Amino acid sequence: MIIIRNNRDLEQYLNNIRQSAKTIGFVPTMGALHAGHISLIKQSLQQSDITVCSIFVNPTQFNDKADLERYPRMPEKDAKMLEEAGCNVLFLPDITEIYPEEDKRQFDFGTIDKVLEGAHRPGHFNGVGQVVSRLFELVKPNKAFFGLKDYQQLQIIKKLTSILKLDIEIVPCEIMREPDGLAMSSRNMLLSTEERKVATLIPQLLVEAKQNLLNGQSVNQVKEAALKKLNANPIYKPEYIEVCDAETLTSIDSLNNTCKSIILIACFVGKIRLIDNLVIN
Ligand code: AMP
Repeated sequence: MIIIRNNRDLEQYLNNIRQSAKTIGFVPTMGALHAGHISLIKQSLQQSDITVCSIFVNPTQFNDKADLERYPRMPEKDAKMLEEAGCNVLFLPDITEIYPEEDKRQFDFGTIDKVLEGAHRPGHFNGVGQVVSRLFELVKPNKAFFGLKDYQQLQIIKKLTSILKLDIEIVPCEIMREPDGLAMSSRNMLLSTEERKVATLIPQLLVEAKQNLLNGQSVNQVKEAALKKLNANPIYKPEYIEVCDAETLTSIDSLNNTCKSIILIACFVGKIRLIDNLVIN
């Protein structure tokens, strides 16, 4: 695996790849890699000739400064994991490569960035749009791989490629979970032992809610039951639990057969904000 730190070297390397008619798969990340990220790398390796992984903690998508500061950074360990997984290129730019000047672009994602994460993290998805479009411009991949763990982000990226008319196939990848069900996340390592133990309630609530919805309970009933369990312990601070149309992400009151639905949650465990989701039907 080669490590590239600047745009010029990246462009030169990838131009050669493209000239030999090879395809490029791309996995953008913020580092502190885990098996969830590696599953994206594996998919890219299977579907592309060359796999590029980027690690860049993008300041413009953080609405909370403390969250940005405490975000884990461990590039050497990450590079070792990527090497072992068979990744071809690690792109490790510093901020001046990504934002040579302030990025003032504003994207209009319609309604999908107004709800859920968008409603609770002002500016977050605009920042995601800025960094991903910039990385797409630099890497020009044939395919880009994104995890369903960040379900709303995936919808935003699809919208972004359509707004910018990019010829890049966006490949959704399954959520990788720990043995106790907790969705893998770089933020999990920031949890204390106690917080890590109780965080498992989040995926448990999703599974329970899904079963109860399929058994005929109303959306309100399952939401109330989940919130009651979370509110019973002050270690949790739920931000939302919503059942939505999986395409439009608008909230729904009851399941119906015409649209695929999904249940999404965001909840603080101590100071750490975790998100998760489960497709219902
Ligand atoms: P991040 O480094 O958190 O920005 O994530 C980089 C990519 O990895 C995104 O496409 C995420 O959706 C994906 N990802 C993060 N966690 C998981 C997971 N547990 N399973 C699958 N993909 C994941």
